[in-house]
Amino acid sequence: MTKLFFLLFFISILIPSISQNRCGTMQVYQKLLDSDTNAINRYFQFENTILESTAIEDLNPKLNPSTRHRNATSVVVIPIVVHVVYNTSTQNISDEQIRSQISILNSDYRMNNSDTLLTDHPFWTSTADAEIEFCLATTDPNGDPTNGITRTFTTNTRFDADTIYNWADVKYTATGGLDNWDPNRYLNIWVCNLTGPILAIATFPTELISIPSEDGITISYKYFGMGGTSVSPYNLGRSMTHEVGHWLGLRHIWGDASCGNDFVADTKVAESENYGCPSFPRRPNNSCGGDANGEMYMNFMDYVNDNCMNMFTFGQTIRMQNTLNSLRAVIPSANRCVSTANIKDLQEIKFGIYPIPAQEELNLYLGNNHIYDGLIVRIMNPFGQIMIEKKMTQQFESEAIDISSIPNGSYIIELRNDTVKGIKKFVILR
Ligand SMILES: [Zn+2]
Repeated sequence: MTKLFFLLFFISILIPSISQNRCGTMQVYQKLLDSDTNAINRYFQFENTILESTAIEDLNPKLNPSTRHRNATSVVVIPIVVHVVYNTSTQNISDEQIRSQISILNSDYRMNNSDTLLTDHPFWTSTADAEIEFCLATTDPNGDPTNGITRTFTTNTRFDADTIYNWADVKYTATGGLDNWDPNRYLNIWVCNLTGPILAIATFPTELISIPSEDGITISYKYFGMGGTSVSPYNLGRSMTHEVGHWLGLRHIWGDASCGNDFVADTKVAESENYGCPSFPRRPNNSCGGDANGEMYMNFMDYVNDNCMNMFTFGQTIRMQNTLNSLRAVIPSANRCVSTANIKDLQEIKFGIYPIPAQEELNLYLGNNHIYDGLIVRIMNPFGQIMIEKKMTQQFESEAIDISSIPNGSYIIELRNDTVKGIKKFVILR
């Protein structure tokens, strides 16, 4: 697909119909596209990167259908900070309700949810473990201990999502909310009195660069977690499962257009979003050329009730992992919380790089940490494209990497093997 064709195609599928309900992510994104001509270029560049890396992964034949795992070296753990911005005591939700939301995310993103499809369901073979986990941050940006929750009283009685007028005010201390923590290191979630028909709004990973101060997810206190203030039929924490999907680069399953494209190969093409709790099969042999099994309405990226959505597909999980390897590459190494789940965490490796800014050569220094075998050194641009990759065959204390072929700009250097990982940013300036 040529770049121009891709661009026109993307614009054409985005503009026709933007849903007004449940999730405001695409509405906000559309507003950004209207005001920032570079936004479409950022998305285009990101999409190309994702497509390239997904093609490689697809060679791995649906991986292991019996376990739904991709043989990843590690489960990624994402530190969350929840900013409760309240005007009334009711809006000041409890720690327990917040922790229930973290548990739901961990179940849904590890395919441990109790309502996962049964093995005889036609879509069972598409379901997948995203191998992503979440925890409340235990260290704040200053390095001090935290429970991962901030509480801020606001005089704003509401944050209006209906007109997308002042919903972003919650993200700024100056406008009655709270400034976010470093979005490269935390998933910021604001829980507030978000009003209008929209339950929540996420930002896409492409905008981490353009508007870092607004990176994260905003959600009404009525649709966050279980119990407490949560309101049926969105009282099982699935709005946040859906929004985190956007935050990791997923699109709505119907592609925000009639028979639209969500850029994932193994989701079913859909005529439109679905609501309520449809019965299977939903719209069999639909007008998009669908088959007898119909639409995948139970996907987390559709609009059905919380108790009717229960799955990500393998393709969606690959897309999210690719985001974590590119635009959100720093966050898995943020090391700002300790997972409570029974998983193998990669140890953070300490290393130095110099000079900064670099010119023709980047020196990598491990010093006393030279004991690690089989390290892979990667230099990536902010869109995750690998510029240099080098597998170290033996232990080393220092290594000079020739970067003369890479143009000026910001880059990420990553070191990892099966037990350790580390990431640093650096700049090339000649
Ligand atoms: Zn959405």
